[in-house]
Amino acid sequence: MINKVEMMGDIERVLFSAEQIQERVKEVGAQISKDYYGKNPVVVGILKGVVPFYAAMTQAITIPLEEDFMCVSSYEGTESTGKIILRKDVDVSLRDRHVLILEDILDSGRTLKAIIEMMKTQKPASVKICTLFDKPEGRKIPLEADYVCYDVPNEFVVGYGLDYDGYYRNLPFVGVLKPSVYQD
Ligand code: 5GP
Ligand code: MG
Repeated sequence: MINKVEMMGDIERVLFSAEQIQERVKEVGAQISKDYYGKNPVVVGILKGVVPFYAAMTQAITIPLEEDFMCVSSYEGTESTGKIILRKDVDVSLRDRHVLILEDILDSGRTLKAIIEMMKTQKPASVKICTLFDKPEGRKIPLEADYVCYDVPNEFVVGYGLDYDGYYRNLPFVGVLKPSVYQD
């Protein structure tokens, strides 16, 4: 629990502005539009951290797609627990569909692995991953994203959808949180 959230004052350094992210999202969105041409994918966002990225990316993709969401919890504080709880499943059937998962950040890989396993029980035609951020050094199980907007160092980042204890999601940039915020 954080007692006092200062927002800007809790940020050690800014990594990416919303404008920078928007430019990169356009590039990756153009690639996805080519790769999925004629496939009418289901684009599944993983709530809640994906919200700003999801809005930007689905608008950068110029082919027909269906939108859906899943919500899982896997993360308490700044350390991944490895336990995945399904809080909301997709509404549409994934059977024979091309599924593109949008995620905020890929760290240990446990969350996405669990999500992909759940999805595969529905027998989709394909499942691929597009992540805003990848922390390759955090990986605990072998899993790679098919589309990565940016690699980030093995530090705890917040903003542009990413939270710490529910806060900072509404920061219009991504930054590294001061360690003093989570160390007491
Ligand atoms: P994984 O299961 O790959 O370890 O963790 C993925 C989830 O952990 C992400 O969806 C995100 O919720 C959380 N996470 C991992 N690294 C960070 C980080 O640096 N900042 C924030 N805010 N969340 C993170
Ligand atoms: Mg998340």
